[in-house]
Amino acid sequence: MARYIGANCKLCRRESEKLFLKGSKCSSGKCALERKGYAPGQHGKNKRFKVSEYGTQLREKQKARQIYGIFEKQFRNYFKKAEREKGITGTNLLKLLERRLDNVVYRLGLAPSRKSARQLINHRHFMINNNIVDIPSYLVKKGDIIKVKDKSKKLELIHNSMKRIREAKQYPWLSLNKANLAGEFLDIPERSDIPVQINEKLIVELYSK
Ligand code: SF4
Repeated sequence: MARYIGANCKLCRRESEKLFLKGSKCSSGKCALERKGYAPGQHGKNKRFKVSEYGTQLREKQKARQIYGIFEKQFRNYFKKAEREKGITGTNLLKLLERRLDNVVYRLGLAPSRKSARQLINHRHFMINNNIVDIPSYLVKKGDIIKVKDKSKKLELIHNSMKRIREAKQYPWLSLNKANLAGEFLDIPERSDIPVQINEKLIVELYSK
C-alpha cells in the first residue's frame, strides 16, 4: 500500500479537526481548516449526512492512523500487539504509537513534524544509545538516549529545529539536553499525559467486530 502523498490539510478537513500533521506550521495562523472549515472536494461544502456507528469508529481509527502516519496493516499489527499486552487495549495501543522513534523525535522538538522526523531518521541522522537507527517505527524503550549524529547537527533542518526547541513543549516522559541535541525516554507515558484527541475505545470496538 502506498503512503499518502496528497495535501496534509485535506486530511484534517476530512476529519473536521486539526490533526497537526504539519507540526509547528499548524500554529502559524495559516491553518487550512481554520480558513476552509468544510470537507475537501467539489461537494465538500454541501456534505450533510448522518454518520453510522461503524462510520464513527472507522473515522476515529483513520484519524489515529493519520496523526501517527501509519499504514493500515501496520496499524492493525499495533492493535494485535496492544491486545496481547496487559492492561487496557486502547491505552496500550496509544502507548505503542507514542514509543515510535519518529514520534519521539517529533515530541522532543528535533523535527517539525512526524513526517519530517521519518525523513531524518531514514537518512540516518539519529542515534539511539550511540547506534544509528534508521527505522522510524523502532520502538523506543525506557532509558533510551536519542541524539542527533554529530555530523548532522550542521544540517539546516536540524538548525531550524534547534531554534524551535526553545519553544518546544516539554512532556513529562521525555527529557531533552538542548545543548547536545539529545533526549532521554524516561518512561512510557500514561494515557492522561498523551496529548491526542483520540477516542481509542472506538478503535477497539471497530477491530472487535
Ligand atoms: Fe491540519 Fe491545519 Fe496543520 Fe493543515 S495546517 S495539517 S489543516 S492542523
